[in-house]
Amino acid sequence: MTDYDYDLFVIGGGSGGVRAARIAATHGARVGIAEEYRYGGTCVIRGCVPKKLFVYASKFSEEFEDAEGFGWSVGERGFSWDKLVAAKDQEITRLEGIYRRNLERTNVEVHDSRAVLEDPHTVRLLSTGQTLTARYILIAVGASPNVDNSVPGMQHVITSNEAFHMTEFPRKVVVAGGGYIAVEFAGIFNGLGADTTLIYRGEEILRGFEMDLRTTIRQEMEKKGIKVILGDAFSAIEKESDGSLTGNTKGGKSLAADQIMFAIGRNPHTSDLGLEKAGVEIDRIGAIKVSADSRTNIESIYAVGDVTNRANLTPVAIREGHAFADTVFGNNPWTVDHGLIATAVFSQPEMGTVGLTQEQALERTPNLDIYKSSFRPMKHTLSGRDEKMLMKMIVDADTQKVLGVHVVGPDAGELAQILGVTLQMGATKADFDRTIAVHPTAAEELVTMREPTEQLRG
Ligand code: FAD
Repeated sequence: MTDYDYDLFVIGGGSGGVRAARIAATHGARVGIAEEYRYGGTCVIRGCVPKKLFVYASKFSEEFEDAEGFGWSVGERGFSWDKLVAAKDQEITRLEGIYRRNLERTNVEVHDSRAVLEDPHTVRLLSTGQTLTARYILIAVGASPNVDNSVPGMQHVITSNEAFHMTEFPRKVVVAGGGYIAVEFAGIFNGLGADTTLIYRGEEILRGFEMDLRTTIRQEMEKKGIKVILGDAFSAIEKESDGSLTGNTKGGKSLAADQIMFAIGRNPHTSDLGLEKAGVEIDRIGAIKVSADSRTNIESIYAVGDVTNRANLTPVAIREGHAFADTVFGNNPWTVDHGLIATAVFSQPEMGTVGLTQEQALERTPNLDIYKSSFRPMKHTLSGRDEKMLMKMIVDADTQKVLGVHVVGPDAGELAQILGVTLQMGATKADFDRTIAVHPTAAEELVTMREPTEQLRG
């Protein structure tokens, strides 16, 4: 390995790349890493973390209202976007520093530059033109937001990247898209006081999740004042003389807004990366093709995280980076199980989910017991808020194994984590039934749903 500058060179200092670099270095590898923007990557700099901080900020408007039901009188309220952005930026800078220091502490050589491939063992740093060689190269460059270039006026819209740094908070905003990022941002804008519309071309938001939850979340969003337009999409966006925007839709609507945000998906960040020079294969949408152990078709080049378009979540990218480093440098080969991933959507109300949806479960077995419960969480008895919590459990009727649990309501994301453990362990309905409830909580409903609400038999 000594003929190379490094044993491992990592392109991309985000979730997957940083974990892989650190673990490889602790296994004794000589590691270099390049990041073109800021260490920490999408999740820390312009994804999960700032998004969740904004979700917290946006929830206060309802908290102030709910407080009155508990005897509080809340005085005059004001919201400063500038203060929120400044506080968020300070926290992100702190986290970025931790990422960088952790790399340096494990003796990873940190380069602040875009890097591209020259051949299967060589990268070039664009900031200096320097070429560096490595026995192995890991591509962990993530993904970037899509816009729809077939729609005239795309230069006027923002994506999630810009939403974290808008110079002014919009009074009126339209979010295009129906995935989790679009839905989360609609909740953020609405909670912070913007007149908010969500427009999505599909028949229901949050495609891929449990249908009952998708409908419930959309209805709850509408109750909070978000206008949701389904089955429609923008056909053109125009800038008016006063700087405001008008979005015309295929369905003939004309939507006025100060800001239009597109959140219609993300593309692997693989253009101009030198993949063809190194001979690395990509798929139809530009994602790098990899085997279960994250190896590309080129023996010395691996790829992890969003750039491989497997399950585009931070903990998955981290796990893939860790598995790669243990396998290649730690003499401990293992692969990531992408089969059962618990996850949260920080919509308002929140979703926590693990395992199969009813539709997916039916593809495996026609015999299902469905347990469903919809109720008013205790907090809303006094707050008076008209908001329901929904829990749905999908059980294989023959084996009684729990195949999926889906929750909408306060702290559903926190619940999903521990539900993920139970499903990993292969929990049956009987395991839930003999677990004593924690009272008074909303989660106790999960161990007290006695009779199936629906029995499906093939
Ligand atoms: P990234 O974290 O994107 O890191 C890639 C890095 O590579 C970037 O820093 C980029 O600047 C750098 N780079 C790219 N090209 C080069 C190059 N040629 N040279 C050098 N550097 C380069 N996931 C969750 O699990 N939970 C959430 O709540 C969540 N919320 C999200 C909210 C938003 C708004 C977004 C956009 C994403 C969210 N995600 C969430 C997804 C999560 O951020 C990604 O799955 C995760 O960051 C993927 O990690 P990665 O290592 O593959 O790529």
